[in-house]
Amino acid sequence: MTPTLDEFAAEVRAFLDANADRAAQDEFTWGIGSDEITVYAEKSSAEEEAAVRAAQQWRAKMWEAGFGWITGPQEYGGRGLDPEFERVYLDLEAHYRVPSQTMFGTALGVVAPTILAHGSDWLKERYLPRLFRGEILACQLLSEPGAGSDLASLSTRATADGDQWVISGQKVWSSRAHYSDIGLLLARTELEAPKRKGITAFIYPMGTPGTDVRPLRQMTGGSEFNEVFFDDARIRDRHRVGDVNAGWLVFRTTLQSERASIGLRGAGYGGSGLVGLAAPERVVQLAQHFGLSDDPVVRQDLARLHTGYRLVEWNANRRPPLAPAAAKYATARHVNWAASMIARLLGPRICADTGEWGTYAWKQLLLGACAMRIGGGTDEVMKNGVGEGVLGLPKEPS
Ligand SMILES: Cc1cc2nc3c(=O)[nH]c(=O)nc-3n(C[C@H](O)[C@H](O)[C@H](O)COP(=O)(O)OP(=O)(O)OC[C@H]3O[C@@H](n4cnc5c(N)ncnc54)[C@H](O)[C@@H]3O)c2cc1C
Repeated sequence: MTPTLDEFAAEVRAFLDANADRAAQDEFTWGIGSDEITVYAEKSSAEEEAAVRAAQQWRAKMWEAGFGWITGPQEYGGRGLDPEFERVYLDLEAHYRVPSQTMFGTALGVVAPTILAHGSDWLKERYLPRLFRGEILACQLLSEPGAGSDLASLSTRATADGDQWVISGQKVWSSRAHYSDIGLLLARTELEAPKRKGITAFIYPMGTPGTDVRPLRQMTGGSEFNEVFFDDARIRDRHRVGDVNAGWLVFRTTLQSERASIGLRGAGYGGSGLVGLAAPERVVQLAQHFGLSDDPVVRQDLARLHTGYRLVEWNANRRPPLAPAAAKYATARHVNWAASMIARLLGPRICADTGEWGTYAWKQLLLGACAMRIGGGTDEVMKNGVGEGVLGLPKEPS
């Protein structure tokens, strides 16, 4: 029987009370506690492993208690409830200290919806429960050195050989591929067909012999991206998602899911943690600390920060949801504007470490925010999408 929202909330509270500590009141006071701003920060492999393990253990608990896949179909272990229920869960969970779940963003917000929409029964049964239980992690194997915004130009090949596909080529910018168990792969299966008609999608087991994952170091110090090389790696045909040469159709689901999971709440991991880092109350205290809060230009910027913050929050929760490209673009734009505004407040302190609390730490946001304007599709590509798909403007010449 479907619970009411109140009954469900009571169930969630009981689960959280029994399994997690309440977060301390989330009031920020300048100079107290850690000033760390974690955006693509450098982590040792031991720290990364520990974070992944803690996140997996938490998901396993959520799954056992019936909160692992609140909106998912019951046949794959989901609760079959409306997105409203997921939002109730997320709102309540935000008041507790639970391990960060960001590493599941791609697995649950992007790869799982793609499998659910286009995968065979075998793929759904094999992977969906394990993904939501946190047992396995997933990445996207899409971009290549010669194919980013124009992904249809990709050249990684998949050649049929009996019941197997032989994969050769290279992917790049594959976030978290170094600890993923599977990857959503797009590969060219037909050379003669028009670009978008010769591509097939696969769920690629990352442990397949012939796979080489090489981390790339980012300017923030972390190494979340990778290059992935395929040297005649063989996978079974049952790992194919959708029909042969119908990969572009599959990819449309992937793309929409990814944008939604960045800009919308309750879709995957909802909104961007980066927006919260530049919460207005925090930045107001920064301005006060440096005696800038009476400066009319700074006050105007603080008002804009507050407005932008609220707009991102409201957009993320809008029903019916905002077009994913618009939500993703608006979120990325706000975070980047916030990062540059904070840099203006701090002046040279953001690039030279004086040891002063709450100053140089912001460099992580400044360096990391720009990634949001690129990952999941660039700002320009989002604007094209909104122009053509939402506003009905003429298509750009291809
Ligand atoms: C944080 C992050 C995470 C990522 N994670 C993954 C991942 O997990 N898996 C994966 O496969 N990829 C990933 N990527 C790669 C990402 O999808 C690509 O970087 C992105 O699609 C842009 O491609 P590109 O870098 O090749 O730039 P290009 O496509 O070469 O674009 C260069 C510039 O040209 C502009 N441009 C291109 N086409 C147009 C157009 N038609 N109209 C107007 N302007 C245009 C772009 O806006 C950009 O400014 C990630 C990237 C980032 C930053």
